[in-house]
Amino acid sequence: MFVEVIIPLALPKNYTWQVPEQMQLAIVPGIRVEVALRKNKKYAGIVKRVVKEIPVGFTPSPILNILDSSPVVNDTQLKLWEWIAQYYMCTEGEVMQAAIPANLKLSSESVLQWNEERTLDFSDLSDSEFIIAEALEIKGELKISEVQQLLDINNTYPVIKKLVEKRVCFVWEELKEKYKQKTENYILLHPKYAQEKELEELLNNWSRAPKQMELLLAYLHLKNTTGIVTQPDLLKKANASAAQLKGLIEKGILIGERRNTDRLPSLPKLLSLDFKLSAAQEKALASIKEIFESKTVCLLHGITASGKTQVYMKLIEEQIQLGKQVLYLLPEIALTAQMIRRLQKSLGGHIAIYHSKFNPNERVEIWNKINSGETKVVLGARSALFLPFNNLGLIICDEEHDASYKQQDPAPRYHSRDAAIYYASLFDARVLLGSATPSIETYFNVQQNKYGLVELLERYGDVAMPVIELIDLKQIPAKQRNESPLSPSLLKEIQETLEAKKQIILFQNRRGYAPYMICDTCGWIPHCNHCDVTLTFHKGKQKLSCHYCGTTYPVLQTCLACGNHHFVQKNFGTEKIEELVAEAFPQAVIARMDYDSVKGKHDHDNLIKLFEQHRIDILVGTQMVVKGLDFEKVSLVGIIDADGILNFTDFRVNERAYQLMEQVSGRAGRKDGLGKVVVQVTNLKHPVLQFVQQHNYQSLYQFEIENRKQFHYPPYTRLIQVIFKHKDKHIAEEAANIMQQGLSIQFGAYLNGPSQPIVDRIRNQYIWEILLKLPKDSKTVHNCKKMIHQQMIIIQNNKRYRSVHIIPNADPIY
Ligand code: ADP
Ligand code: ZN
Ligand code: ZN
Repeated sequence: MFVEVIIPLALPKNYTWQVPEQMQLAIVPGIRVEVALRKNKKYAGIVKRVVKEIPVGFTPSPILNILDSSPVVNDTQLKLWEWIAQYYMCTEGEVMQAAIPANLKLSSESVLQWNEERTLDFSDLSDSEFIIAEALEIKGELKISEVQQLLDINNTYPVIKKLVEKRVCFVWEELKEKYKQKTENYILLHPKYAQEKELEELLNNWSRAPKQMELLLAYLHLKNTTGIVTQPDLLKKANASAAQLKGLIEKGILIGERRNTDRLPSLPKLLSLDFKLSAAQEKALASIKEIFESKTVCLLHGITASGKTQVYMKLIEEQIQLGKQVLYLLPEIALTAQMIRRLQKSLGGHIAIYHSKFNPNERVEIWNKINSGETKVVLGARSALFLPFNNLGLIICDEEHDASYKQQDPAPRYHSRDAAIYYASLFDARVLLGSATPSIETYFNVQQNKYGLVELLERYGDVAMPVIELIDLKQIPAKQRNESPLSPSLLKEIQETLEAKKQIILFQNRRGYAPYMICDTCGWIPHCNHCDVTLTFHKGKQKLSCHYCGTTYPVLQTCLACGNHHFVQKNFGTEKIEELVAEAFPQAVIARMDYDSVKGKHDHDNLIKLFEQHRIDILVGTQMVVKGLDFEKVSLVGIIDADGILNFTDFRVNERAYQLMEQVSGRAGRKDGLGKVVVQVTNLKHPVLQFVQQHNYQSLYQFEIENRKQFHYPPYTRLIQVIFKHKDKHIAEEAANIMQQGLSIQFGAYLNGPSQPIVDRIRNQYIWEILLKLPKDSKTVHNCKKMIHQQMIIIQNNKRYRSVHIIPNADPIY
């Protein structure tokens, strides 16, 4: 018997292994097996399928171990991996790497780490588990090979799995950052009062300390209504102090016990949608359902604050009632926190949240709950697509236009929305795409009748769309403009908004203080030593920083070209804007939301909460403030530099600019319709500005689709980009030329390049790229992908080019 195994590496194909006689009964697709590869390096791979025929031409080596008694990934997942690998031109091993939590990747090189928070009560452990737990307690860490020695068995994985489940230890190096177990004080009644009689006696014979009596009664009440009683809950209910509780504990009536709380609080499974849909929402819901009768994918084009979320919730409720699972995708991890608060109010424990910032233990926990079907709904960022659903009825892909759905680096460079549509087809599930500013590709699919369309073109509660006011920066003297990017009209609006006790968002697409510095004498501009980019000045950190590779440099006092000492700061980053706003409005509370200010895991969510509670008046930020957030009291949005958005060099620039401006203005006046957006710009005539002003997506689409057609861009073509990176510019170029020649015979008509991108060197690697604009027939695309793979092998078999990094990217997005 032989098996094809997926190993989490970029191997050119899956290898085949032999299954020893005694293991054959246990082999099914989806379980993990341990195999040795090259110089005995061991890996945990996943069995993709059983191969009946004897492989010709080589003798497969035997697998070493079987790691699971039941599959950790199911057939549907394996199909999804295969599709992603094929479509996005990577290996299934690379998909596996992205798809499963680290804890499921353990191999004999992994390390078990003692959980110091674990109580030393080992009574719940089996004999084998106990042996390992004891060794771990003493040594702190054990290699899996050491576990094998201790137990004298080969198949140690079931034991390890149990130990991890029982939180005796963690697996994997990553965990060195250390997972902190959450604990809480629980209060119990002493067992001697378990019987009614004893309890009655106690209460009847109570003499002193009436407050303690009150506390005890409160305890009994809580216990009866909620089942479990924590110390904070009890003290709150009884309005008592910790000292009073201590009295009862000392008397031996109550017992305090420190317990681990479940990592993911398990809320009761609710289904209480406590709102009514508006007539327009009701109609949209009915239309979606009708479309789902005949189509798999439906676009809900709902303007900002039209209440798309409410419609989603009704659809989710229906799926839960049918016993089906729902995947709710959002483009950014940062958005999930606000959304989960909204959803949990109505769905409670039916819904879980999943993304790559969770630690491995938490991820495995959710993984298992989805696998067993216990959890019905998952809210997550793109990687949630890889969860082991078994009964999926619906995928909601909110903000479907968002470029963050496409993974850039590393492989798999997949688009989660598009992969979701494939994944849904395996379950015969439905996909709802939602957006106020749909991607051109999606809207094109609607026009082609591939997707259904439902429109929700009024805001909930008849709230008006914000008024867009264009400020002509040309009218402001250059000197004044160089000093501050805040025009007098914008300052006036901010002032009035503050007086009206409303909030303000200021959007600027550049972080840092000054996006670049220039020598006042000779015009020299500091660049990164490793990348072809100018350095941004960060005032808080007093550093120059490269936004491409992250290298920081001390602030220069002297020009390296002419030796003079005077630099001028050019342009305005969020940090500088924050400072200028603070100077202009000393009484206002100002905060900044960008990549630099929200580094920690909870920073972003905390900032959102503070803003939600109106403890911040003005929020200055980059892209991060644009997306999907729902704030009640924002009535003014300022777009500081619209030219910067409109002048970006990419074929999607108009689409992006519209989305950005429409989305950020969508944060204004969501509840009362008194929103205003101030757009500062020099090029007032730009057509996209007119579309934004009229909130007119249709005209943007018409305008844009013509461009795409004329210049052979998606949705009329399929793009494949191939990137070549090497520290020697010529070697990278040569490799790109070989590929170009290899492809040109068949695909010459669709080929562009090799060329250098605008930023042609990052981290000391020179970059060349080839772009193919292929006709949209699957055969041509398929052949071209095959040809690219062949060329990659040819190039990399040449010693001169072995270290060139060749990266194919299907449907690239910048
Ligand atoms: P969108 O996602 O379309 O931008 P939201 O779903 O965030 O809009 O809705 C905007 C606001 O209106 C939210 O605060 C939401 O709670 C409220 N809202 C929308 N529909 C309803 C409804 N049917 N009942 C109560 N509140 C609603
Ligand atoms: Zn100079
Ligand atoms: Zn750099």
